[in-house]
Amino acid sequence: MKTIHNSNVIYSFKPNMTPIETVESGEVFKVMTNDCFFQQITSEDMVLNSIDHSTLNPATGPIFISGAEPGDLLRVKILSINIADHGISMIAPGEGVLAEKAKNSVVKIIPIKDRCCHINGLDIPINPMIGVIGVAPGDGEWGTDSPWKHGGNMDTKDICEGTTIYFPVRQVGGLLALGDLHAIMGDGEICFTGLEVQGEVILMIEIIKHKAVTWPILETSYATMVIASGETIDDAIKAATDQAVEHLASGLEISWEEAYMLASLTVDIRISQVVDPKKTVRAVIPKLILNTDKLIRSIKGF
Ligand code: CA
Ligand code: CA
Repeated sequence: MKTIHNSNVIYSFKPNMTPIETVESGEVFKVMTNDCFFQQITSEDMVLNSIDHSTLNPATGPIFISGAEPGDLLRVKILSINIADHGISMIAPGEGVLAEKAKNSVVKIIPIKDRCCHINGLDIPINPMIGVIGVAPGDGEWGTDSPWKHGGNMDTKDICEGTTIYFPVRQVGGLLALGDLHAIMGDGEICFTGLEVQGEVILMIEIIKHKAVTWPILETSYATMVIASGETIDDAIKAATDQAVEHLASGLEISWEEAYMLASLTVDIRISQVVDPKKTVRAVIPKLILNTDKLIRSIKGF
C-alpha cells in the first residue's frame, strides 16, 4: 500500500498546489498525519505561546487523484483511522466559546488505551475523527485553520472511520490534503481544541464524473450530511439548509416548496464547530427519507 508521509504538509488550500503523490481511482492508500501542534507539545508545562505558530494545523498532501477534473465529485472513503497512544487537550487565554473567562493556559497530555481516553478519573470511549480534510478551491487561499467550500478545518465529528466524504473537484487532480485528527470531540469544539492526536488514515477515492455541488457531503451509516460554513453560525445554517433542500427536491423529484417543508420535518441541523475562523454546521438528511446513492445520482453537472 502506498504511504504518504507526514513530512509532506501544507498550511493553506489554494488553486495551484504542487502534488507530492499521485493515486489512482479505487487505489487504497495510507496517509500519515501530524497532530495540530506538529508534535511540539511534549510536556504539560508548555503553553500555546511557547511553540512555533507557523507550523500549526499541518495537513498532509496535496495528493493528485488521476482523472479528477473540475466539475467532478470525489468520493473519499475513510476506511480506517489509527491514532497515537496519547493526545493533547489545551485551553489558552481568550480562546474558545468562553474566551473572556479563559485566563490561564492549561495543557493536558491524555493517555489513550483500549479505545478509551483517560481524563479526570474517567475512561471515555474515543471516536477518532478527521478535523481537516479538503481539496484545492476554485479560487482564493484558505489557511488550514479555516473551513469553506473546499472542506478544510470542518471539525465535524462524523468525519470518522467507515464514513464517506464527497468533495467538489475544482482543480485538475482534486489535490486532497488532511490532518488534525481528534481522538474525541464534542459538537462545537467549545474550548478550541479536540483531543489532538497524531495518526494515520487509510483511504480509497473514486471519481464521479460531472456532478456539481457547492458544499462537501458526508455519508454515514444512517444519514447524508451537507457540511457548510459561514461567517456566523446563522450563515452556516442557511447555506447547509439551502443545499439540503435542493438535494431533497432533485433526489425525490418534488417541488422546492415540498422539499422545504419536508426538510423542516426530517432534517436535523447540527453544530460542527463554533471556534474556527468560520463556523460550521451540518444538515443531516436521514437515509430513510433519501438514500445517499439516489441523492448523489440526482446531482446535476455544470
Ligand atoms: Ca481543527
Ligand atoms: Ca484540532
